[in-house]
This record gives sequence, structure tokens and C-alpha cells, in this order.
Amino acid sequence: MEIIREPERMQETARHWRNQGLKIAFVPTMGYFHAGHLSLMEYGRRQGDRLVVSIFVNPTQFGPQEDLDRYPRDLERDCRLAEEIGVDVVFTPTPEQMYPAGYQTYVTVEEVSRGLCGAFRPNHFRGVATVVLKLFNLVQPHLAIFGEKDYQQLVVIKRMVKDLNLLVEVVGRPLVREADGLAMSSRNVYLSPAERQAALNISRALFKARELVAAGERSVNRLREALAPFFDTQPPLSLDYLTVVHPETLAELQEISGPARLAVAARIGQTRLIDNILLEVN
Ligand code: AMP
Repeated sequence: MEIIREPERMQETARHWRNQGLKIAFVPTMGYFHAGHLSLMEYGRRQGDRLVVSIFVNPTQFGPQEDLDRYPRDLERDCRLAEEIGVDVVFTPTPEQMYPAGYQTYVTVEEVSRGLCGAFRPNHFRGVATVVLKLFNLVQPHLAIFGEKDYQQLVVIKRMVKDLNLLVEVVGRPLVREADGLAMSSRNVYLSPAERQAALNISRALFKARELVAAGERSVNRLREALAPFFDTQPPLSLDYLTVVHPETLAELQEISGPARLAVAARIGQTRLIDNILLEVN
């Protein structure tokens, strides 16, 4: 496995592979790997002749009051795990290499970036779309793999690829949970034992919602009322949103009549957690 830091070298390596007719699979990440990241890499390993994983904590997707500085990092461990899976290249540029002095170009994916997390994290998806487009240009993947954990991000990237006619196939893969249901996240290390216990109620609420919808509930308002007790925890969970959206347009739904995603963002202590689940009507 090779560790590449220079964007130019990454691009050259990709061009060389492409000239040989090799299929490049790509998993963009911010590192501090857990089983969710590894599941994307394992899928990429099966799909591509070459597998690139990027590790880049992208400053442009963090707000001024967010956790950029304390975001967990462990490059050595990440590289060990990547190597075990058979990753060919770990691409890990510095912020200065990605955004040198004078940098001023950004990608805005408009409508699908507005709701859900976009309403609470202004410019977050602009930072995400921008860095992903840059990474695509450097890694030149045929296939790019994202987790459904960040459901809105997946929709934003798919929209960007379509709108800008990018020659890359975007694949969304299932959300991986801890044994007790908590959605895996690098940010889970922020949680104290008591916070982690309370945070479990997020996934419990989602599972309950799926049950209620399977049993015939169609009203999002009634769903919200039924789920409210799950957020009455100690320490307190504070909801940013609990919203049911159309899986492709992310338009907010009041009635569930076809496939829909229930998406939740909640804060506990200093930590913001997101989770989502597919709701299916029978
Ligand atoms: P991150 O390092 O958090 O930016 O995530 C990198 C990629 O891993 C993104 O496509 C995420 O959606 C995906 N990912 C993060 N957590 C999970 C999870 N629990 N299950 C599946 N994919 C995940």
C-alpha cells in the first residue's frame, strides 16, 4: 500500500492506472476508521482493480464553532486497517495543498443542500461538494462509494455528479450500526458513558418509527408525537430535526405514501449526532 500526500502525484498515479485500463474505486473519508468506513472499502475492493481511500479532515465543511480542531485523528491506525483490507493508495493531502493561498472556487448544490443538516450547518454542503469534486479530479475514480449514514451528503453528491456531467458512478452503501443500534461515527468517541447511553434512544426511535409505519401509520405528525418520549433523556438529547423526506428529492413529507427516509439530528453535550432509516409502506 502506498501513502500519497501530494495532489499532483495522486493525479499522475490515477492517470497511469487509467491508461492501463484499470477500474478505480474510491472511498473519501475524514479518517478515524470504524466498521462503517471499512464496509465501504471492502465493497470498493470487490468492485475496482485499484482502490483509493482519502483521509482528509476538510476545513471548508466545518463551521467556525464546530469541531474541526478536535476532530479525532489516528493516521497510523487508519493506514494499518486500510492495508489489511487491501487498499492500494491512502491519499492524505494537507489543507494547504488542497486550498493553497488564493483559493476561491466553490461548488454549491442548491436545493438538496438547504433542508435537514443544511439548515443548521450553513456552507457545510458547499464545503463537501467542493472537496469531493476536487478529490474526484485528483483520484479520477470510475466508482465512488459513500455511506447512507450521511444520507443528505449522498444525495448532494449524486446531484452534483448528474448536474456537472461527471464521469463517475456514485454508490450508496448501508449504514453500519454498533451491536446495540447506535449508528457508527468517528464522533462517538466524544460521548461520555452516560451520553452514549442516552444517544442510543436515537436509533431506538428510528426502529420504533419503522415499526409504526409497517403497522399502518402514515401521518408524520403522529409519528413525531409517538417518538417524542425517546428524546426525553438524561443527559438531554436536543433535537435539531426529526424529518421525513422523499429519498431522492429530500422534499419534506407530511404523509407517507411510498418510500421515505426518516432523518434525525440531535445534540447531546458538545456532540452532534445524525442517523436515518428507510420507512417502507407495505
Ligand atoms: P466520514 O469519515 O465520517 O466523513 O465518512 C466517510 C464515509 O463513510 C462517508 O461516505 C460516510 O457516509 C461513511 N460512513 C460514516 N459512518 C458510517 C456508518 N456508520 N455506516 C456506513 N457508512 C458510514
